[in-house]
Amino acid sequence: MGKWSKGVVFLFLCLSICVQIASVSSSTSPLQGNQGNKESAATRTFKQEQGDAHVVHCSRERSRAAWKIIEEYLMPFVEKEGYKFSTKCRLHADNDMYRDQEQHKQHVDINEWRCGYCRKNFYEEKYLDKHFDNRHFDVLNESHSRCLADMCGALHCDLVMDSAPRKTKCNPAAAARNKHLCESLADSCFPVSNGPVSGRLHEFFLRQFCDAHTCTGGPKPFSKGRKKRSSILYISISILTLLLLPLLYTFVYLYQRGIKRGSQELKRISLGGRKKKAF
Ligand SMILES: [Zn+2]
Repeated sequence: MGKWSKGVVFLFLCLSICVQIASVSSSTSPLQGNQGNKESAATRTFKQEQGDAHVVHCSRERSRAAWKIIEEYLMPFVEKEGYKFSTKCRLHADNDMYRDQEQHKQHVDINEWRCGYCRKNFYEEKYLDKHFDNRHFDVLNESHSRCLADMCGALHCDLVMDSAPRKTKCNPAAAARNKHLCESLADSCFPVSNGPVSGRLHEFFLRQFCDAHTCTGGPKPFSKGRKKRSSILYISISILTLLLLPLLYTFVYLYQRGIKRGSQELKRISLGGRKKKAF
């Protein structure tokens, strides 16, 4: 009987473990709906399991802000010159550890964000971010030089971040530090010794980002403005318009000529008629 009771206890333990595992896996199943809450619950379980083994010391939000600034206020000018960064430049896409994950983010609808790795859907971007942190941290290469957020001081990230509190008082030491970082970025990304194009962009970078790191009321950041990249749709519409305009003009020209000729022929006929009457 002792053996039997031990067997029953063992069976009971096995069953309860199975039930627990099933409940955890059902809470992480890829269902649309209140995925956000479910994912955060799963996240908590996962964090408890993993401890703090995968804490990344690089802010995703600030890295995203830095990338946004690079995309809007730098890349259009760099692309216009046909210039290519070297990987030594900290602003190179390869030096953003979150780039791969961000590229696997799909904004399907207003309240629908999809993970490009496993096709799970989320209500909000922040839940997808958490999901990346917990399920796809393996794609991050966490070397120190790949944290784009470290460049935020130079790039004025606070200006594009909604949540960042605006500093009212300027700190001269911080401004000097940021200016130094900014100028070293200009040197490494656009070395003057690389030729005239690199030299031009070096100058542009100083004006666009570095000049504003001062407490004496210098120029504002992004003084050279931004340029939107022209989309494929915009380009195709422009080409179509350019092709259709001459056609339209030819049509209008031919139509007007037709009217003129018609009226001249009418005149001739009416003149001929009068002449016949006169005889
Ligand atoms: Zn995923």
